[in-house]
Amino acid sequence: MTLKDVKCFLLDMDGTIYLGDDLIDGAREFLGKIKAEGKEYIFLTNNSSKNKEAYIQKLNKMGINALDKDIFTSGDATIYYLKKYTKFKNIFLLGTPSLEEAFIEAGFNVIKERSADIECVVMGFDTTLTYEKLWIACDYIREVPYIATHPDFNCPLEGGKFMPDIGAMIAFIKASTGKEPVVIGKPKEYMLEAILDTYNLEKGDVAMVGDRLYTDIKMGYDLGVTSVLVLSGETTMDDYNESEIRADYIFDSVKELKEEI
Ligand SMILES: [Mg+2]
Repeated sequence: MTLKDVKCFLLDMDGTIYLGDDLIDGAREFLGKIKAEGKEYIFLTNNSSKNKEAYIQKLNKMGINALDKDIFTSGDATIYYLKKYTKFKNIFLLGTPSLEEAFIEAGFNVIKERSADIECVVMGFDTTLTYEKLWIACDYIREVPYIATHPDFNCPLEGGKFMPDIGAMIAFIKASTGKEPVVIGKPKEYMLEAILDTYNLEKGDVAMVGDRLYTDIKMGYDLGVTSVLVLSGETTMDDYNESEIRADYIFDSVKELKEEI
């Protein structure tokens, strides 16, 4: 498939559209061209710690208009998964207040203490995590199904620094319980399935554009979706050459990608 055939671009944000608080050069023009060509884009993030309003405000500040429907998070995909594949209503959630709100709005009961009613443990990127929550989670993970919104080990920050992400918490829980979660976010098929179903798209309609090999590009590579690596974020060409994960297209940034759509 050529890039001209893509109907909808699935766009990673950090490292692809912006870096920290700075818009990547040419990103606004790239988004404008997508619309001008009669195509669509959806911003896609594995980060389940923030609500969509936070992303909308961040994009708006950089001069990019975005609505609720333009943003899809691993939290959305997890809600989709639970509703489609399970009957669980009562969940123990490791998550921020905004993720909790999203689950409550979607009709789940978020249980906060030990309870015989807990049917499932859901782990999000919980920047409000406490030892108590981890302890309760470990106790229930030994008994009930366990789902994680995404797999990332670190969340990139400005200046080349990192915040430990959910992958590090998954490792903690595995050390205690021996259990691993069902993972929903990029690069997993559940994330893709949730997006395609929610926006009424086919695999052949979309291309995944991102800067991270083991999530953005792996999703395309594993699931047969066109993938576009941009070298404006965390991956260098040397990293790519050392990896087994292959991208269908590679550009320095979306500025160069713009010329091919
Ligand atoms: Mg990224």
